[in-house]
Amino acid sequence: MRLRQITVFTALLGLLCVPAHAEARDISRDTLPANDGWASEGAGTTGGAAADDAHVYTVTDRAGLVRALDGGSATPKIIKIAGTIDANTDDDGDHLDCADYATDGYGLKKYLAAYDPRTWGSAKPSGEQEDARQASAAKQAERIVLPVGSNTTIVGLGDKAVLKGASLQVKNADNVIVRNLDLRDAYDCFPVWQPNTGGLGDWKTAYDNIWLTGATHVWVDHITASDKGHPDAAEPTYFARNYLRHDGLLDITNGSDLVTVSWSRFADHDKAMLIGSGDSATGDRGKLRVTLHHNQFESVVQRAPRVRFGQVHVYDNRYVVDSDDYRYSLGVSTESGIYAENNAFTTPGEIEVADLVKSWNGTALHQTGTLFNGFPVDLLAIYNAYNSGSERDLTADVGWTPTLHTKIDSAEVADREVARGAGAGRIP
Ligand code: CA
Repeated sequence: MRLRQITVFTALLGLLCVPAHAEARDISRDTLPANDGWASEGAGTTGGAAADDAHVYTVTDRAGLVRALDGGSATPKIIKIAGTIDANTDDDGDHLDCADYATDGYGLKKYLAAYDPRTWGSAKPSGEQEDARQASAAKQAERIVLPVGSNTTIVGLGDKAVLKGASLQVKNADNVIVRNLDLRDAYDCFPVWQPNTGGLGDWKTAYDNIWLTGATHVWVDHITASDKGHPDAAEPTYFARNYLRHDGLLDITNGSDLVTVSWSRFADHDKAMLIGSGDSATGDRGKLRVTLHHNQFESVVQRAPRVRFGQVHVYDNRYVVDSDDYRYSLGVSTESGIYAENNAFTTPGEIEVADLVKSWNGTALHQTGTLFNGFPVDLLAIYNAYNSGSERDLTADVGWTPTLHTKIDSAEVADREVARGAGAGRIP
């Protein structure tokens, strides 16, 4: 009797001693696990794990972040972001808005008057207002473009780390890790009018939340990337086209290779992820090898992803389609090899299975294990049965079979796990 009381008492004491919130695990020296997608190829991806103590930084504002990034140097470094950092700030940390960048007489009303297609025609904008736009844009770029060098890890601290208004650019660099960070609203103050894009003309914006260009061995994990605060759908229409403010959430171009994107959330955006920027970029052949797994694409209009040239393994992703403007999810373009396994799509009633895939000059798509609103479907068969006729049929032979991957869950399990675990602030 007495012994049992002591045992119960000890057990209760043990419960009381468990802290309400366990100390968050230090993730800053984590490296990409073996076989976890294309970024694990060869030497794998270790980011700044080899940094000495002098190159481990905790930063709380743009100035500190810029100092830590060190102009994109290759010195191994770990950068921990604490709280919210706004890239649109001056050296004193004061917020800069678009009017602060505008220079040389630039004004949107004047720009629209100068290049109105009814009077200007379809030539590329040039002259005073376009020069002023470029000068203004350069002032913004100087603040928000942040180069990330080789051997760098950037992580958010805790569950509230936010980088706002920035474009992280990994340019001709190797071995980079970005994790546990909410990247918001890479907002372009000065979009350019391109009269000859897509037949109707379009507004072109300059910034991706993250841009990989000539980048190799990159692991992006548990990030959230969105337009939060400035949805393009709320922007006006000029020259009959939406005045877009954002380009990609994570674009992978210009010979980038060996990239793993996992457990991330891409949301509330038009063009989410472009892998390969042009049909004529034949230098991308044999490169652009990317693995996307356990990501959530939510309220994304298109490019989830759109692929040229690359061997891209797309498995265990969760797609939540709810945009009125929805165009497609998987974009099959020139010489692309998308190997899609066990992805789950949830869509509103008016979206059909055939809408999920779009091809421009693509020839193949491998897919198995797809769920559409809870039902198994064959994307390829349905695409081939229902495509518009101007697009050719796709074969199932993409010419490669993925070998670098960890456990592949069923689409049903992945759908549930990704809903619970993808995005910043959710590293277990
Ligand atoms: Ca881009």
